[in-house]
Amino acid sequence: MAFPNWTEEHEAFRESVRRFTAEEIRPFAEKWQAEGFFPDEVFRKAGELGLLGVRFDPRWGGSGLDYWYTVILVEELVRGRDIGCVVGLLVQCEMATAVIHAHGSDALREEWLVPAIKGERIAALGVSESGGGSDVASLQTTATVDGDDYVINGSKIFISNGARADFVTLAVRTGGPGPDGVSLVVCPTDAKGFQVSRRLQKVDLHSSDTAELFFDDVRIPRRYLIGEEGRGFRYVMGAFQGERLVLSVMMNALCDDVLGETLSYLAERKAFGRPIASMQVWRHRMADWMAKLEASRALTYRAAEQLAAGDREGDLTVSMSKLFGADLVRGLVLDCAHAFGGYGFMEENYVARCSRGVQNWGIGAGTSEIMREIIAKHRMPAGPA
Ligand SMILES: Cc1cc2nc3c(=O)[nH]c(=O)nc-3n(C[C@H](O)[C@H](O)[C@H](O)COP(=O)(O)OP(=O)(O)OC[C@H]3O[C@@H](n4cnc5c(N)ncnc54)[C@H](O)[C@@H]3O)c2cc1C
Repeated sequence: MAFPNWTEEHEAFRESVRRFTAEEIRPFAEKWQAEGFFPDEVFRKAGELGLLGVRFDPRWGGSGLDYWYTVILVEELVRGRDIGCVVGLLVQCEMATAVIHAHGSDALREEWLVPAIKGERIAALGVSESGGGSDVASLQTTATVDGDDYVINGSKIFISNGARADFVTLAVRTGGPGPDGVSLVVCPTDAKGFQVSRRLQKVDLHSSDTAELFFDDVRIPRRYLIGEEGRGFRYVMGAFQGERLVLSVMMNALCDDVLGETLSYLAERKAFGRPIASMQVWRHRMADWMAKLEASRALTYRAAEQLAAGDREGDLTVSMSKLFGADLVRGLVLDCAHAFGGYGFMEENYVARCSRGVQNWGIGAGTSEIMREIIAKHRMPAGPA
């Protein structure tokens, strides 16, 4: 039996995402990267096709599907060759709204989740702060109760969609130190005192906006609390599975695309009178990457299978998958860029452009060191000395 066992429904879904990508992303990818922006309209178009709520309950406008459809969605979006745009879309549906879907009140879902699934409101997830992103439990931004409101003070950094978001799913401190003092709230970006302090200049993913946000006595109603006070840390950790799966799939799909480009080039390009693809050093190097990519994909699919089945082992497998993928991208993409010789350093070359941001894959949704910590905790419960 082929693994995964794709059905006709999967293939039909794949076809519709492929068409969306071919029509709405790929033709504009280079322009958006040069301009450092992709239009908000892309969210609305994705929403119309049901791409922003694949696993969400149909009651709120979602499609009620499972993780396999998320895998297909991401594999096809990456073909658009604008990872910045893909990050923007996936932050919306995987990172910022998943916790509202899972833990928010019906009123909160009606007000924020429904328009986000339609692509009519853009969402960001605000967790990381300048003092540290990995140690979520030590975040400093506060939300203090004042009558029927919370008053928020602090700042967030590296927030994807931060400059254009209509609302931020925001991690704040409502209690004492540590994880039990953390809560999640919805913070509308038109609230008085909210400010985009700066749009950050990244070395890659130019079309996605990444911002630093500032909160100066921002007042929001207490009903904008997501779930229960003091549970925010657990909610964020719970949502990481989806984020890590998405990133793992993105890395495999990117590697697949880059490898395909490189193999075509090596077959055509000649040196010393023969195709480079006939030289053993390159044949073996590419064979190594093909084998590693296949292993990475198998690990990611295994994680998707476990997550779709609600198997708790999925937490561990998806961390392994993200760790493995981040190392894979770094090695594979740099080697592939090298295969293009001088062209591998030119802006006009897709593989060269991909090589610019390779280290980023080991950062978001938990760094590679944090993935190793999670794996070790699962399999080596004694802990470090
Ligand atoms: C392009 C981009 C988009 C992002 N989008 C968002 C977003 O939308 N929302 C959001 O909230 N955040 C976002 N982030 C932030 C991201 O989640 C953080 O950068 C990440 O969690 C790491 O936090 P940090 O940068 O503060 O690094 P730190 O936590 O300061 O870590 C610095 C280094 O120390 C290592 N380290 C930390 N702890 C340990 C440990 N226990 N053991 C060993 N090594 C350790 C890390 O692995 C890292 O190498 C984004 C980041 C980038 C680059």
